[in-house]
Amino acid sequence: MMDFSLMIHGGAGAIRDPQRYEASLRAIVESGANLLAAGSSALDAVVHCVALLEDDPLFNAGRGSVLNADGEVLCDASVMDGRTLKAGAVAAIRGVKNPARLAYEVMEHSGHVLLVGEGAERFARARRLAFEGEDYFKTQERVAQLAKAKRKREIALDHSGAGDGKYGTVGAVARDRNGDLAAATSTGGVVNQLSGRVGDSPIIGAGTFADNASCAVSCTGVGEDFIRVSLARTASFFVEFRAMQAEEAAREAIRYLVAKVNGQGGLIVVDRQGRCGQAHSTPGMLTAQFAGGVARVDAT
Ligand code: ASP
Repeated sequence: MMDFSLMIHGGAGAIRDPQRYEASLRAIVESGANLLAAGSSALDAVVHCVALLEDDPLFNAGRGSVLNADGEVLCDASVMDGRTLKAGAVAAIRGVKNPARLAYEVMEHSGHVLLVGEGAERFARARRLAFEGEDYFKTQERVAQLAKAKRKREIALDHSGAGDGKYGTVGAVARDRNGDLAAATSTGGVVNQLSGRVGDSPIIGAGTFADNASCAVSCTGVGEDFIRVSLARTASFFVEFRAMQAEEAAREAIRYLVAKVNGQGGLIVVDRQGRCGQAHSTPGMLTAQFAGGVARVDAT
């Protein structure tokens, strides 16, 4: 039996109060590591971790998501299984407590990869997923953050500009004891985005990718940049075809993102040997990893 590895992120940007996230990140990575230690699949572990991050109002996903220009929370999420290359994703959904769990259901039970809007919500009801009212998702801090973004007429990453440095898109990547890889990502998008705007998080190959032949990847940052260069798939390409390890692939992917589109953001990677890596072009990024039996939080 191999050892397992797990890495999670809580977004990238100019993070003004990084210590605020440490306890959450540590508790969540340890909870995921316990599952993997008990023999859970990488897929179950990444969905579990992302659902916990969604439940935590500190992060821009599920409860506590950023608000769009209409003052609404619309969520996006995706998941990918590196063993089978199956993937599931949802975009612009309202009211579903855990968008990552819905992405998983789409992957396992819809016969499709991506469901959006009302159809995705109907599917969530059919699968008996939990729903919550508007008040559950919309926190006071998010209302203030949107007001500030509107005053400054900007559309911003949660951790930058109008972002008050307290929140972030979330993701997880893992390798389980069988050597299988998986990745999941979830977000409320960017502050003051147009209603109907969808970023990279639910786009397989842009915000999320996993393949046992290479690595599992979850991204965070300005989604438009990540979509235009298929960043998650590009990182996995570096592992698969250029024999890079996780850390080098993460760094090269960010170099590529900046060179091609001057992109802002970061990514986490676990490769098929279980090595973890991360890189970002933003001033900071929130990550935590569990590898070789130890949890480490990196909040900068
Ligand atoms: N990537 C997300 C999006 O563009 C935002 C983020 O990572 O904070 O929707």
